[in-house]
Amino acid sequence: MEDTGTTEATNQSPPPVTFDSFHFEAELMDGLRAMNFEKPTPIQQQAIPIIMKNRDMIACAQTGTGKTAAYLLPVINKLIQSPGDFIHTLIIVPTRELAIQIDEALQGFAYFAPVSHIAIYGGTGGISFEQEKKALTQGANIIIATPGRLIAHFNMGYVQIGKLQHLILDEADRMLDMGFSDDISKITSYLPKNHQTLLFSATMPPKIRELAKKTLHDPEQINISLSKPAAGVMQAAYVVYDTQKIGLLKSLLQDRKIASILIFSSTKDKVKELEKELQRSKINIAAIHSDLEQDQRNDVLRQFKNKSLQVLVATDILSRGIDIDSIGLVINYDVPGDAEDYIHRVGRTARAETTGVALTFVNPRDQQKFKRIEDLIGYEIKKLALPPQLGAGPEYAPEKNKEQGRGHFTKRKKR
Ligand code: ADP
Ligand code: MG
Repeated sequence: MEDTGTTEATNQSPPPVTFDSFHFEAELMDGLRAMNFEKPTPIQQQAIPIIMKNRDMIACAQTGTGKTAAYLLPVINKLIQSPGDFIHTLIIVPTRELAIQIDEALQGFAYFAPVSHIAIYGGTGGISFEQEKKALTQGANIIIATPGRLIAHFNMGYVQIGKLQHLILDEADRMLDMGFSDDISKITSYLPKNHQTLLFSATMPPKIRELAKKTLHDPEQINISLSKPAAGVMQAAYVVYDTQKIGLLKSLLQDRKIASILIFSSTKDKVKELEKELQRSKINIAAIHSDLEQDQRNDVLRQFKNKSLQVLVATDILSRGIDIDSIGLVINYDVPGDAEDYIHRVGRTARAETTGVALTFVNPRDQQKFKRIEDLIGYEIKKLALPPQLGAGPEYAPEKNKEQGRGHFTKRKKR
């Protein structure tokens, strides 16, 4: 994981493995039992102690990892310890569905606890608005709200928020994608100074870091997402036109003394084409693709592993799982079909603490796709200048190239 300027909470003292170790109040333990929660998930193991210590926190974890309970449980526990009629926790979410879902989970966990709560979201009529107003003036403990509707209430001036203890931004990346950035700033401007802020996000793009910088104070960071490319991999990209790719590849391979070079391309036809083209340039290369018999594939792979073959070009079948030691250079001739493939491919190099280089060729159509990879791994990948003899490449402007790239990302082609 790269430096984020925040404290790492991962790899500290071994995390507790049962809910007992958090020493929750009995009413909350009853709720957990009623919900059939037996063991905390990894994000819960890591996040709950931090939240109980009142630290600000930024947590990156894929969907389905149990983020909701990670923040609801410590909040409920605190409310059991010091109850009262005041707004204790504000949870901001992108959609009404999510608000309702969290409210229902809360209903379950807090069944035996003195906790009042309400979900506040747009698209409902005047009766709901009056009920929400009542909750916001009389001090419902936990408010789960979509940004627009909450702001409508704030603008009326009656929201009693002065005793707020926790602000929770759930699915923060999705909120920013939906254009809620200004709304979030607006909401935080209404809040008292001293509260804990927790930010949950499935991905960690730069704009989430910016939001974190603006809203969090000295946060701890936890990260339960996909395994990121190993720290030893030097990643970089070339922004190219399709017509420049083969020239670039040849110039990269020309005077490489690297023993093992692995090249990935998107389709088997391209793989075959590259194999022919590079053999013509007297490069010690072979290809693996789905048209080869298993025996032939094994043969090529054996040669590559024992270093009698310097360059291997392959479709995705090779990118997952196969453990070849000490590949010095991985080249993505095309941007991988999805971001996970990228991580798997790049993972072929720098295994077991060696170092390696991973280079990706990004044509205009793939820029948006590549941007998503950068969003997923949470940092920008360095763009290198093309060798001068190839002429100028295109500009890297994923937003502008959006139209062309649309629809290519999620589809998984047979390879
Ligand atoms: P996320 O917000 O990370 O996408 P959720 O909080 O919605 O994930 O949890 C996903 C599912 O896993 C929910 O159905 C939830 O009830 C369940 N779950 C979460 N934590 C636990 C746990 N410790 N034990 C059993 N089920 C859990
Ligand atoms: Mg969630």
